[in-house]
Amino acid sequence: MTDQDNMAQIAPMRVGLKNHFKFKCHPGVSCFTKCCRGINIILTPYDVILLKNRLGLSSEEFLAIYTEPHIMEKTDLPVVTLKLLDDEQQSCPFVRDDGCIVYQDRPTTCRYYPLGVAALTHKEGADDEGFYFFVDEAHCRGFEEDQELTVAEWRKDQGVDRHDDINAEWTDLVVRKRSFPANIKLTEQSKQMFFLASYNIDKFREFVFSSSFLERYDIDAATQEKIKADEIELLNFGMRWLKFILYKIGDFKLKSTD
Ligand code: SF4
Ligand code: SF4
Repeated sequence: MTDQDNMAQIAPMRVGLKNHFKFKCHPGVSCFTKCCRGINIILTPYDVILLKNRLGLSSEEFLAIYTEPHIMEKTDLPVVTLKLLDDEQQSCPFVRDDGCIVYQDRPTTCRYYPLGVAALTHKEGADDEGFYFFVDEAHCRGFEEDQELTVAEWRKDQGVDRHDDINAEWTDLVVRKRSFPANIKLTEQSKQMFFLASYNIDKFREFVFSSSFLERYDIDAATQEKIKADEIELLNFGMRWLKFILYKIGDFKLKSTD
């Protein structure tokens, strides 16, 4: 499955933050939890951090148990999707009859639904503001409910701002790669580094502090303390490092060899 496959299931009618739509989702709708089955959920780095912490797992364990690796067709970058159960409906592992058992820490895609975010699939460059679209699924009855709101209000209601802020540098990395000519390929090692810093945060911490990383890069003591203690700081640090090794941009520095 690729982001291209994901695009094939949706009707990308462009909507912006000020656009209104009628929608409400609640346990009383006849379709309750239908959208949690047979779905394709690309996980963001922050999604993995929240879910692995919620489940008390390391990032390595979470990735092994709950995700499937894919390569995004347009960017040739590795991503993970939530691994669905092998039941008739291909259910999300976290759905129950009465709802989502990880609701407070649900992935970004689940928060946006029934909206899709165009950043990973359609955005053409870092200056493109991106847009949203409606995921076109006939089973969703939420559009028949009597509540009208704007895209901006829906984002606020679903708490996606923090997710988007934390994932912004990662999204930017993906979008930059999309604007590269198709014949410019990343090495396998670069792709592995992208995966490590994006998704396997506990292994990335180990890589920074237990390999020759700190001998090669000029990282001040305050930054080292910060990234040791805080996963979000470590994630941001990883994104700055990826920008340096993949695109040669940013303020990351190699140690002087003089
Ligand atoms: S299908 Fe739509 S209305 Fe039904 S539970 Fe999912 S989001 Fe809510
Ligand atoms: S994580 Fe929760 S909201 Fe998202 S698909 Fe699974 S059960 Fe549904």
